[in-house]
Amino acid sequence: MTDKFDVIVIGGGPGGYVAAIRAAQLGLNTACIDMNTGKDGKSALGGTCLNVGCIPSKALLDSSKHYHHLQHDYAAHGISVSDASMDVKTMIARKDGVVSQLTGGVAQLFRANKVKQLHGRGRLLADRRVEFTPHASEETRLLTADNIILAAGSVPVAIPNVSYDDEYIIDNAGALDLTEVPKRLGVIGAGVIGLELGSVWQRLGAEVTLLEALPTLLAAADKDISKQAARLFKKQGLDIRLGTLVKSASVVGGEIKVLLEDKSGTSEVHFDRLLVAVGRKPYTEGLLAEDSAVDLNQHGQIEVNEKSQTTVAGVWAIGDCVRGPMLAHKASEEGIAVAEMIAGKAAHIHFDTIPWVIYTDPEIAWVGKTEQQLKEEGVAYRSGSFPFAATGRGLAIGNAPGLVKMLADEDSDEILGVHIIGPGASELIAECVVTMEFQGAAEDLARIVHAHPTLSEAVHEAALHVDKRAIHRGN
Ligand code: FAD
Ligand code: AMP
Repeated sequence: MTDKFDVIVIGGGPGGYVAAIRAAQLGLNTACIDMNTGKDGKSALGGTCLNVGCIPSKALLDSSKHYHHLQHDYAAHGISVSDASMDVKTMIARKDGVVSQLTGGVAQLFRANKVKQLHGRGRLLADRRVEFTPHASEETRLLTADNIILAAGSVPVAIPNVSYDDEYIIDNAGALDLTEVPKRLGVIGAGVIGLELGSVWQRLGAEVTLLEALPTLLAAADKDISKQAARLFKKQGLDIRLGTLVKSASVVGGEIKVLLEDKSGTSEVHFDRLLVAVGRKPYTEGLLAEDSAVDLNQHGQIEVNEKSQTTVAGVWAIGDCVRGPMLAHKASEEGIAVAEMIAGKAAHIHFDTIPWVIYTDPEIAWVGKTEQQLKEEGVAYRSGSFPFAATGRGLAIGNAPGLVKMLADEDSDEILGVHIIGPGASELIAECVVTMEFQGAAEDLARIVHAHPTLSEAVHEAALHVDKRAIHRGN
């Protein structure tokens, strides 16, 4: 017997589960196949994001931030604590609790919306058919649907001569589950994941060394922001070695020997744990039968057009397994847009206004173009900036490094990019995204009343500074 649905979603991450819920809301008979299994051996929806990505990393970033503040920042507030200690197992258990609450919440949402949850592996066949192999079973079932959404996500990239062993040489999942603080943690790749997870363990006492092949830190960020970030991370004790290419790693006698190459030649460094965080690649292994006719591009991503349609009619693809930034909110918005298009509605996403956030301390967030991009494109722009330390709220907090930088078109004043490093950057970026979505100008933000005293006043002052009329700084 063949089960027939209106929509089958393969993958239950933030792309797939959101697409499934939206499709069901729109009255479509929807199934979501996801093969992920949690620590309890049961299905765990939510994909990379909920299980081994966004959420657990933020849980550990918060725990480690509390511990770090307790040791380094509270004395200035008159708070002193003796014998502060960190129980790593409790921290990890709290993180696991947050994860299971959220993954269970998605299952509940599926039930509430009547999405059929299928725990197991899905494989796309020809003619909009899907082969479903239930978890821990060899038997397969054939399903069909009018529309199929591929949302298979991504997996960590491996580099030559560095093999994961899940004990010494680990990926993001391993770094989120360490049971004790390593004395020396090496991190290959000073990108978002390397910086966030490196920060967690550094705050808890590890000596953290980040080995980064590129000559600049956070090359995709605005250069003023990445410069500040490099200075602040160094001050925190993160040893970031730029222009350093890892050639190989091997575990010898309980420690990891890493061979690297930098401008002074080849050398060896030793660590107790090594996190490989060199990026992620689309996960399409076993997803597409040979006759499925869905094309991949040269980067191994499922080929899609601007509407997320693959090369096969009725087959769509979203999230980390297609082009565009590997971000949970991008995956979710694509999921919603595709579900709405399937239901006959108009939908589209502005890729230019997708916000980026790095949850280090201070946080880094941006939307739109960097100053270097505008220069390359020959766009005439004006720039305004404002430091958090010059806001009343920043001073009251006590430790508020960083700034807001705003770039606006020289003629029209339309905001082209906003770049923030500082406390609460992840939240502050939202008003900038909204303004850009409405094609707002710096003048618009400058004329909007911002509550006092708040960190958002730095956004307001940066907008005023675009026109060189900031109140609380020299122009
Ligand atoms: P995924 O979340 O990868 O989900 C895909 C799901 O499909 C998985 O459950 C997988 O098991 C399942 N699947 C795959 N193939 C099949 C198959 N054939 N059959 C059945 N099931 C299948 N992004 C942010 O926006 N903010 C952050 O703070 C952030 N932090 C991150 C931190 C870390 C450590 C990592 C690793 C990533 C982070 N990301 C963050 C990125 C974010 O997790 C991804 O962009 C997001 O999860 C992509 O969603 P997705 O639905 O495309 O895929
Ligand atoms: P992201 O793409 O944000 O996950 O960051 C991954 C980082 O890893 C990039 O900045 C890469 O330059 C870096 N990287 C990739 N391969 C190597 C390598 N062999 N040695 C050191 N850094 C690497």
